[in-house]
Amino acid sequence: MIIVVSPEATAEDVDRIVARIQESGRQAHLSVGTERSIIGVIGPDSPELQDMFETLPHVESVHRVTKPYRLVSREFQPHSSVVPVGKGVTVGGAELAVMAGPCSIESEDHIIQTALAVRDAGANVLRGGAFKPRSSPYTFRGLGEAGLEYLAAAGRLTGLPVITELMSVRDIDVVARTADVIQIGARNMQNFILLDEVGKAKKPVMLKRALSGQIEEWLLAAEYILAQGNPHVILCERGIRTFETAYRNTFDINAIPLVKELSHLPVVADPSHGTGKWKLVTPVAMAATAAGADGLMIEVHPSPDHALSDGAQSLTHERFAEMMRAVSAVAASVERTVPQPFVRA
Ligand code: PEP
Ligand code: MN
Repeated sequence: MIIVVSPEATAEDVDRIVARIQESGRQAHLSVGTERSIIGVIGPDSPELQDMFETLPHVESVHRVTKPYRLVSREFQPHSSVVPVGKGVTVGGAELAVMAGPCSIESEDHIIQTALAVRDAGANVLRGGAFKPRSSPYTFRGLGEAGLEYLAAAGRLTGLPVITELMSVRDIDVVARTADVIQIGARNMQNFILLDEVGKAKKPVMLKRALSGQIEEWLLAAEYILAQGNPHVILCERGIRTFETAYRNTFDINAIPLVKELSHLPVVADPSHGTGKWKLVTPVAMAATAAGADGLMIEVHPSPDHALSDGAQSLTHERFAEMMRAVSAVAASVERTVPQPFVRA
């Protein structure tokens, strides 16, 4: 249930409403807006409870939530969330977050080289996988903890916050120590135990949409994380599996404006996995920016034909810099900016 507080209510008036909600055995989630505050009531609701809340002083209106998710919904929190991801970078503000780097960290030199190149082109977050979900157990599955150390070194050297995937609860401490943002991969979108655990972590989480994840399932998965007390969730559209085989996945552009309507959480687009083909990455990144994405996740490799994973969808360092210029023009048309190229002293 959602309680809309009257505009003239003072902080003390709001406190009294919150106290009454708690007295009823429910939790209150307060969202303070510029014009009016909204209080989400968490717990079972009923018409009688709605009637009771409507009688309280300074309550303008009371609405039953129509969606199965609550904390992530825009009904619950009308203003867009801005997620701080460390070192002065946010996701959900006017400036796009551009998360770039290799699919997998292949060596210390490899991640450092790519980190410098993507930073110079304007990326403001460094990505790199150390624990890799691979379809075949015989392919490269990442460097594990050594990879995390190399990623941390590249992050320190460049000053970029880092994002890396957590695949298992087993590795949560070591990943949370290194990562500024914990990535939950598409294959784990509905690993509910993992979602519970990152919900208790003190780090932002980027939740990728599952290969066959419906929008409602995706938002409910995000709800698991918020329900554990972690409000810093970023959604990532990374393409879905359809009947089409001409590319790896079908980037679902519809998802971006729809999810932004349904939820206050920021949404990042991953046109690398969303297409599987490097030639499609820039046009789809431009389209996603025009559709309102709050950021991009882009795979970049110094020599994609030698990449140990996802070479076909990886941009070279030069192509990534070109993509940034192309996206910049589109961003301006939707009143967003891209982070500027890094100027070396
Ligand atoms: C990745 O980011 O490298 C990755 C494995 O992504 P996804 O979970 O979207 O397949
Ligand atoms: Mn990848």
